[in-house]
Amino acid sequence: MKKILRIGFAVLCCLVVSACGGQNEANKPEPTPAKKPVPATKQEEKPVKTGTDVNPETLQIPVLMYHSINTNVKNNLITPPNEFDAQMKWLVDNGYHAITLSELDLMLITGKNVPDKPVVITFDDGYQDNYTNAYPILKKYGLKANIFVITDKIAKNNHFDEAALKEMSKYGIEMESHTVHHQELNTLSYDDQVKELKESKAVLEHLTGKTVNSICYPVGRYNENTKRAAEATGYKMGFTTEAGKANKNDGMYTLPRVRMVPGMQMKSAIQ
Ligand SMILES: [Zn+2]
Repeated sequence: MKKILRIGFAVLCCLVVSACGGQNEANKPEPTPAKKPVPATKQEEKPVKTGTDVNPETLQIPVLMYHSINTNVKNNLITPPNEFDAQMKWLVDNGYHAITLSELDLMLITGKNVPDKPVVITFDDGYQDNYTNAYPILKKYGLKANIFVITDKIAKNNHFDEAALKEMSKYGIEMESHTVHHQELNTLSYDDQVKELKESKAVLEHLTGKTVNSICYPVGRYNENTKRAAEATGYKMGFTTEAGKANKNDGMYTLPRVRMVPGMQMKSAIQ
């Protein structure tokens, strides 16, 4: 009985719906059955999207190049900690987003999910003061960064040790390769270049458990073999010391950077 009542009610509903639908034409032999309304589904969880999609041809992402962050400024490879702090603060205050090199790789190639004002912070050589001076400042502002490590120098002559490397890696600072011995790659044979690139990558991946994607050429020196060796040993990007902002058309194995020197204002460096 209940079932019959329910069917009757449903038929009545259909008739009311079709009668009220002003678009039904009088000469239609049969009213089209009202479509079942699509039930409201639970909102699907979308992947976190923090940026927008842009044409990668137009991307110009500054990759800042620092070395040592120290009070003892002897040359233009050393930035005093108070200046570094002010520069990081300027980035945050002005809406810049520090991204890692792995993120940069994807953005340069696809142009997808690019945050507003992206910037990459890199340090060359793996100095101890990257850990003692730069790292606390990066943490203070919640900034990501990347360090190009000379693997043979780890824990030697003013370079941070494995414990510091692992701690910073865990925090989100990417450890990337600056070769094993910091030799000028263009002076080495192809096979020796491969050895430098392969061994340093393996050491860092063993220490961090994360993939090493980038190589920074010591003293910015490279040749055609270097680019081939980098690709052959599994790197996605190679960095020079040439000046400029990164775009994929620079060549993914010859990406330029912005050199940070003491006394430099971030505003003029980055814009
Ligand atoms: Zn170096």
